[in-house]
Amino acid sequence: MKFGTKAIHAGVEPDPSTGAIMTPIFQTSTFVQPSPSKHKGYAYARGANPTRNSLQKSIAALENGKFGICFSSGMGATDAVIKLLNPGDEVVTSNDLYGGSYRMFTKVYERFGIKFHFLDLTNAANLTPFINSKTRLIWLETPSNPLMRIIDIQECVRQARLHRNILVAVDNTFASPYLQNPLDMGADIVMHSVTKYLGGHSDVVMGALVMNDERLHQDLTFIMNSCGAVPGPQDSFLVLRGIKTLHLRMERHCFNGRKVAEHLRQHPKVGHVYWPGFQDHPNHAIARRQMKDFGGMLSFSLKDDKIEKATKLMESMKVFSLAESLGGVESLINHPASMTHASIPREERIKNGLTDTLIRLSVGVEDIEDLIADLDQALEQV
Ligand SMILES: *Cc1c(COP(=O)(O)O)cnc(C)c1O
Repeated sequence: MKFGTKAIHAGVEPDPSTGAIMTPIFQTSTFVQPSPSKHKGYAYARGANPTRNSLQKSIAALENGKFGICFSSGMGATDAVIKLLNPGDEVVTSNDLYGGSYRMFTKVYERFGIKFHFLDLTNAANLTPFINSKTRLIWLETPSNPLMRIIDIQECVRQARLHRNILVAVDNTFASPYLQNPLDMGADIVMHSVTKYLGGHSDVVMGALVMNDERLHQDLTFIMNSCGAVPGPQDSFLVLRGIKTLHLRMERHCFNGRKVAEHLRQHPKVGHVYWPGFQDHPNHAIARRQMKDFGGMLSFSLKDDKIEKATKLMESMKVFSLAESLGGVESLINHPASMTHASIPREERIKNGLTDTLIRLSVGVEDIEDLIADLDQALEQV
């Protein structure tokens, strides 16, 4: 089945008791059992809920995976993956990472004796010296947030497979399953902040993991049920509804993203535009190979690279809203240094190229003329 058909149909069956075409919101915490421990697959809603199950099947299908597990946030999903590890284990990850992931790794899990190496993985060969007998996980994020760097997933998987027992997990939030399917490239786990493109309407916080391996599915389901970061049925319903238009939204996100990137690049007041669709983007060839298109996310700097100017621009937007998050139908503008990436120490941030003045856009699905006009009027004022 092709992507758009899966987005609308996968995981969703008419309700057997009524024929309702939409999966009902099973707003219940428990399920009646005719006899002790005899039930219809549902005992208590932390373990499983039918609305959530339907969503898990849908997300798994979109990632060409066998199993999906939903969590109450993207961080909840990431947390479950790290809980597969033991004290003394090591993780290799990239240095241009979602701020919250960096914070969880360094502030929470380093205290539990797990060691994280943050590297520039745009060259996968950089992995080699950091892999040793304690390495258990390679955690990738591509395209990266907010610098839009691209990591070669297949090459990282190839490096991992030279050793035993190393899992490769990919945070696929920026690409969405429409643009990139890491399991097809050999990754073991795909993680999504469902809050973003999958939900798509800025009304839900949720996370998901997708995998093919049955044992890994059992282990992660055990962690999900034991630790309890599960989403509710209302949110599951909203995401099931959002997913039905994922392919249509993504087409427009990609179209608008390209137009905005090209417009900004030729604007006299704009400095650098970070967008993997440009022929001269350092990782353009890999992006072309592993992604279907280049998405709606991009970052840029001003030629007059002063914080007052960047701030003035962000305050002057009328159609774009100044807010954290991304992937919704509405366009957002964000200042990574003080907003999404404030949890990364300044020296670390600057060292990795994330300046104080960088501006990030989540280009929505509005009419492109209005988005360009909005950027132009704000650039006029700086
Ligand atoms: C938002 C985001 C997360 C965290 O997800 P939440 O749903 O906010 O917990 C992780 N990774 C990336 C790339 C994100 O954009």
